[in-house]
Parts: sequence; C-alpha cells; structure tokens
Amino acid sequence: MAYTFDPAPQSTLPVSGSDKLYPIHRIYCVGRNYEDHVVEMGGVPGREPPFFFSKPADAVVHNPSTLPFPTITENLHHEMELVIAIGKGGKDVSVENALDHVFGYAAGVDMTRRDLQAAAKKLGRPWSMAKGFDHSAPMSSLRSAEEIGHPESAAVRLSVNGEIRQDGDLNQQIWKVPEIVSNLSTYVELVAGDLIMTGTPAGVGQLFAGDKVEGEIAGIGSVAFVMGPNP
Ligand code: MN
Repeated sequence: MAYTFDPAPQSTLPVSGSDKLYPIHRIYCVGRNYEDHVVEMGGVPGREPPFFFSKPADAVVHNPSTLPFPTITENLHHEMELVIAIGKGGKDVSVENALDHVFGYAAGVDMTRRDLQAAAKKLGRPWSMAKGFDHSAPMSSLRSAEEIGHPESAAVRLSVNGEIRQDGDLNQQIWKVPEIVSNLSTYVELVAGDLIMTGTPAGVGQLFAGDKVEGEIAGIGSVAFVMGPNP
C-alpha cells in the first residue's frame, strides 16, 4: 500500500564526530528536577517521584541561528537542559542497566509559554500547548556516550544578551540519568530514538524578540540563537 501523501520528514540530530544522523522518535521531559528551580516555581523541594510531559519529535530545531518566536504567549521562558538520547529500547529497565540504553547526550532548551502553563496548572488542564509547540526544543548536536561517557557533573549555563541567567550543575539534579531512564521505562516502553529532556536549574526567565540566547552543558554541547520577531 502506498501512503496517501508523503510522510512528514524524519526529525534528526547530527552526531558529533560522525557522518550519522540520530532519528528522533519521541521527546519526553522531566519536570521539577533541580531543587532551586522547584523553589523558584513556588514548589516544595523533595524526592517526590519524577513526572513527565512531552513535546512532538519535530519540535527539535538543530542549532538554529534564529528561533521563530511562538504565537499566543506574553511570557516565553527559557529552560536550559541536558538531553538524553536513548539508543536501545526497553521497558521496566533497572537503574543498574539504564545507562546501557543511552546512546548519548545533547544540550537543549525547553522553551515554555509560561503564561499558558500557569493557566493550565490553575485549571487542571494539559501542558501540551505550553510546552509542545513548533520550534520549542532548540538543541545542539549529539555526542555519543562512547565518546564522552556519562557525565554526572557539568556546568549547565544560559545567558541572555551576555548576562548569565542560569548557572547550575548536572550534579544538582534530584533524579539522575539512570533513575530517569528507569522510571520513564515503567510508564512507556522506551524506543531507540527517544529523547529525554532532564529538567532545568534555577534562573528561568522571559525572552523577548531580538534577545541573544547562549546556552551550554559543558563538555556536551551548546546552542546560540537570536529570538525572531514577534509573530
Ligand atoms: Mn523543562
């Protein structure tokens, strides 16, 4: 059987130091994974189980120079995050075996319509349109675990117009990479190609058209883009 029309293009990320493209299947995101960010969002820090939301695979934009400004928000926020790239599927993966399922890592920004998220929280509605909009996941290239291992400590930084806004470290994550992979695999069967955005440290803040955003996870990847004009 032929398709009714051509399928949408496969979302991908290049793998540094190779000529390979990593095919993106789904994007899951962890909420509230750094204590200081939990506090700035008005929450109480603690080791409550991780929770997940998602973005469509085609929300990823690889190393944009200009990021289109989304519609329908008066309060667009940046959240700088480590991205896990799953390389081997599985369900009910143990914490001990979780790193075997990780292909590599990237640096990404979980772009958030904070005003829509706040309204959704208040009304008990889904976060989808606050988190999963077009171009909501600008990312660096991937670096394979073969090349860089599984970093447990690395600076997580984001600046806007040269001013540091976020300055955390992966070692501040409440739920670590193996625990995140293991926990998520109890909710869904992981598939090679799944990305997991692992939460953001404190310092999230508003972005305006024309802002220059520079983010990095030290030793893993960086993004640098200018916010496009208001739609
Ligand atoms: Mn986030």
